[in-house]
Amino acid sequence: MKVHDAEIVISAVSPAQYPDTHLPEIALAGRSNVGKSSFINTLINRKNLARTSSKPGKTQTLNFYLIENTLHFVDVPGYGYAKVSKTERAKWGKMIETYLAERQQLRAVVSLVDLRHAPSQEDIQMYQFLKYYEIPVIVVATKADKIPRGKWNKHESVIKKALEFDPADTFILFSSITKQGKEEAWQAIEAAIKQ
Ligand code: GDP
Repeated sequence: MKVHDAEIVISAVSPAQYPDTHLPEIALAGRSNVGKSSFINTLINRKNLARTSSKPGKTQTLNFYLIENTLHFVDVPGYGYAKVSKTERAKWGKMIETYLAERQQLRAVVSLVDLRHAPSQEDIQMYQFLKYYEIPVIVVATKADKIPRGKWNKHESVIKKALEFDPADTFILFSSITKQGKEEAWQAIEAAIKQ
């Protein structure tokens, strides 16, 4: 998809605030600092519509972006900060679970993991949760530019094994620096919203 129009429509905390449209939605989830904002900005050809967050722990909202009047990207706040209180974390968990488990418009989740590292417990939990609810997943392994090409396969295998990756899902090596994986990501998203 060639994106010219992308705008934030709402930062929602409760289902009543979700946009009242039938447009398909693609949610994006991952640990804080994984490169989620950079991924979104790369896909929509912007420098900083989705805010790149070097300071974790700020936004605990679901941010809905309207893309080309065709679909919504739903930016799920990054998980895995140590500084958030237990109460905050529980609230966050409930908000995300409600959205992921109940939202009719949701077509797939882009689950971002860092290609350099084995997935965290939270990455694994998120993937298993999505599989439990039979939500299609597009696993995007970020920061591929930081790993030599000859080692990509090895890192991909480690991630897939830890996640118990379902071959029906899509796995994409991505870099917001080289833009590697951008076209593949759009293809996967376009296939998902046609379902
Ligand atoms: P978020 O917290 O998941 O939204 O992560 P950001 O998009 O803010 O990225 C976190 C940090 O990783 C920033 O310093 C980015 O510049 C860097 N980063 C993100 N994607 C890439 C990538 O593909 N390659 C490299 N080398 N750095 C990246």
